[in-house]
Amino acid sequence: MSTFLPFHVPEIGEDEIEAVVSVLRSGWLTTGSKAKQFEQDFAAMVGAQHAIAVNSCTAALHLALEAIGLREGDEVIVPTMTFTATAEVVTYFKATPVLVDCMPGTFNIDPAGIERAITARTKAVIPVHFAGHPCEMDRIMDLARRHDLRVIDDAAHALPARYRGKMVGTIADITCFSFYATKTITTGEGGMITTDNPEWASRMRMMALHGLSRDAWKRYTAEGSWYYEIVSPGFKYNLTDIAAALGISQLQKSERFWKVRERYAGLYDAGFADIQELMRPRVESHVQHAWHLYVIQLDLDRLRIGRNEFIEQLQQHDIGCSVHFIPLHLHPYYRETWGYVPSQFPVAGAMYETIVSLPLYPKMTESDVQRVISVVRDLIQRYRR
Ligand SMILES: *Cc1c(COP(=O)(O)O)cnc(C)c1O
Repeated sequence: MSTFLPFHVPEIGEDEIEAVVSVLRSGWLTTGSKAKQFEQDFAAMVGAQHAIAVNSCTAALHLALEAIGLREGDEVIVPTMTFTATAEVVTYFKATPVLVDCMPGTFNIDPAGIERAITARTKAVIPVHFAGHPCEMDRIMDLARRHDLRVIDDAAHALPARYRGKMVGTIADITCFSFYATKTITTGEGGMITTDNPEWASRMRMMALHGLSRDAWKRYTAEGSWYYEIVSPGFKYNLTDIAAALGISQLQKSERFWKVRERYAGLYDAGFADIQELMRPRVESHVQHAWHLYVIQLDLDRLRIGRNEFIEQLQQHDIGCSVHFIPLHLHPYYRETWGYVPSQFPVAGAMYETIVSLPLYPKMTESDVQRVISVVRDLIQRYRR
């Protein structure tokens, strides 16, 4: 029997381990020179003016909404096909998350749905680049300009990704990345905000650390002093140097990681090309897909097996997989609090029944990928109508 292939394992090398150990030995554990360097490296890599390291993408989204001045009673448009973090941050302000259906194919938020959802109260839209495939940003930015909305990208899946040649991280007003353990690069927990707007950047930097009027790391160095001022009731969202040391190394490898994921996605595509019962991820020709996830869709009309049973079978064949996502409108909180019903989201609802996320990460070997392909093919063979 084969050994179990987990859905995800982070790729942590000896250099990451040494970088963390050297921070531990240095005597400076919290936000300091490593976090600063991580921000500079990240800004340079995506080509953004400002980068702010924080302890999660959720924190990043919260800070972004605060910076644009979201208020009680405002509305923010978010896709239903996402993780709860994208929408929950809106509720921190007693504002309303307005869910919008996705497009078949890429699972990304439907720009026509955004347009229909805009009201006089709409303040912002948070597109999610599902699985790492960039959203239709030209249409979304155009809608935003015409209706005076801010665009905050949830780019938790989208490092590195490009839309019409532009890096995700330079397109929206503010972009939020995640370095959670399963993401394309990781710091265990962590996130990054990019923007070209200096006022928002300094507001977010300050609010990430208690609303304190200067960088904490300067307070304790020769350049700084003991004096600070609190100008707003802020949050505690700063990234530690321990995590940032991991991030610096991971960022250096992000292009290599991406190449491996892209190659593996190509192997999956080739391995499933002749199977009618399964739909492979759609990739538009004008994007660079980050390949955070490889999501297949089962054609359930052609199979004698449901999605849940299919996942169980994969598990029994020692392959870990997952589902991205249970659409927000199906969760009790969103249903009961905001009154969403399935008929409002026909595309996301139908896709949800059919989707399976297969393992896709650089720590896998090519033979792991081939094994997943052959198990999936065998299952389809066995259960086809
Ligand atoms: C992982 C994820 C987040 C949250 O990221 P954290 O860093 O864990 O806060 C937000 N949005 C999406 C789409 C995600 O997949």
